[in-house]
Amino acid sequence: MKKIIENFIAEIDRKNSHEPEFMQAVREISENVLPYIVSQDIYHGKNILMRMVEPERVLMFRVNWVDDNGEIQVNRGYRVQMNSAIGPYKGGLRFHPTVNLSILKFLALEQVFKNSLTTLPMGAGKGGSDFDPKGKSDGEVMRFCQSFMTELYRYIGPNTDVPAGDIGVGGREIGYMFGQYKKLKKEFSGVLTGKGLSWGGSLIRPEATGYGTVYFAENMLKHISDSIKGKTVTISGSGNVAQYAAEKCLHLSAKVISMSDSSGTIFDEEGIDKEKLAYIMNLKNNERGRISEYTKKYSNAKFLKNKTPWDIPCDIALPCATQNELKEKDAKSLINNGCVCVSEGANMPCVPGAIKVFKAHKILYAPGKASNAGGVAVSGLEMAQNSLRYSWSREEVDSKLQEIMNDIHASCLTHGQEKGWVDYEKGANIAGFIKVADAMLAQGIV
Ligand code: NDP
Repeated sequence: MKKIIENFIAEIDRKNSHEPEFMQAVREISENVLPYIVSQDIYHGKNILMRMVEPERVLMFRVNWVDDNGEIQVNRGYRVQMNSAIGPYKGGLRFHPTVNLSILKFLALEQVFKNSLTTLPMGAGKGGSDFDPKGKSDGEVMRFCQSFMTELYRYIGPNTDVPAGDIGVGGREIGYMFGQYKKLKKEFSGVLTGKGLSWGGSLIRPEATGYGTVYFAENMLKHISDSIKGKTVTISGSGNVAQYAAEKCLHLSAKVISMSDSSGTIFDEEGIDKEKLAYIMNLKNNERGRISEYTKKYSNAKFLKNKTPWDIPCDIALPCATQNELKEKDAKSLINNGCVCVSEGANMPCVPGAIKVFKAHKILYAPGKASNAGGVAVSGLEMAQNSLRYSWSREEVDSKLQEIMNDIHASCLTHGQEKGWVDYEKGANIAGFIKVADAMLAQGIV
């Protein structure tokens, strides 16, 4: 088996060796899925995983815009249309200076498995730009978004490809892009998700990824007859996912003691309560400030400059910032400090060495494609509401979200149950693979 996996990875590496994040995702998926393929006659001789890791289409384009000083700026835009076997391409747009094809291809590949797990009819894509919204005026962000959409609109549509937000793309950016799409196409349609409530958005969409990550953690704990209530939680990031993960932890009576951004971590031993979280949300979403400012308002808290939260003792860790943010040494530190559960809010935040440590200690570990699927799931519900020209209540969407997270957990159990513990990574990869692979086989070689 080892040889089959190595040969497969070598073949993909030959074409993609300059894309480390993409190769990292390919390796993780192959190690789980190839042994399953070998065990199932229907997939033999179909080269199905090779077809799945090759994007159906990659678009790359120039984005020109004019800054507040009248200077012409040039950025690069992308859309990776990865797989449309089970529905229109669906996945976020990321605006961050680190964005490149390797990162977007890894995110798009993860999205194939994630969207399949949600039980909803969504294919997979991902896109974005190396544009950095940080420090830009509203006018600059608007002009960039308009220019980005002036190219992208040709390739997307409610039945073709439906982008959403990701790092650096929140309600403001979705609004500007939607406005430009509407103007260019002369149509009001559900072409983007994460829209504002009064113009086609869904209740609970902003909350969905963070809430879902915590619902998944609660599912894992329930499975071993435990619960999140009373547990101490460390969270990384302070953006969309981190904020609502923290909020749901508070709803479920857990204590959140850290949040972070790319400049460092705040550690509040007394706990980040509702009022303190509201302060963080305002700081990050409206004032667009830095997390270090928290300690000016709450002087008992510490700011750990340039540090991640993983050396702080906790029961549950929720990495909600970015890929590869939790290293092997961090995993060891979490284990040594008594952590029993890691639920990924971000995509691929734990490096392979860290996952190995979690698995060796048989703690509860959920990969993002399962635990953070709540965001795209509610995006799928937003698409359904747009098609119906109808809006469901907050309670209805939240209960559908919980049901979907329960179903994803159950799928992971079906394919990840090992002696005395659950390999959630293996369970998620195999369950996600089956639905897409079966659809691809049914649709022929296209
Ligand atoms: P936001 O832009 O709202 O927030 C990102 C947060 O992560 C910020 O606190 C940011 O800090 C921090 N961060 C970003 N890059 C780095 C870095 N290189 N090192 C340290 N910290 C960093 O993004 P989201 O909350 O939407 O996304 C967070 C993660 O969740 C991403 O991995 C995304 O792919 C994933 N995800 C998001 C979904 C969604 O619905 N939004 C759905 C599923 C997954 P700073 O402000 O300093 O940059």
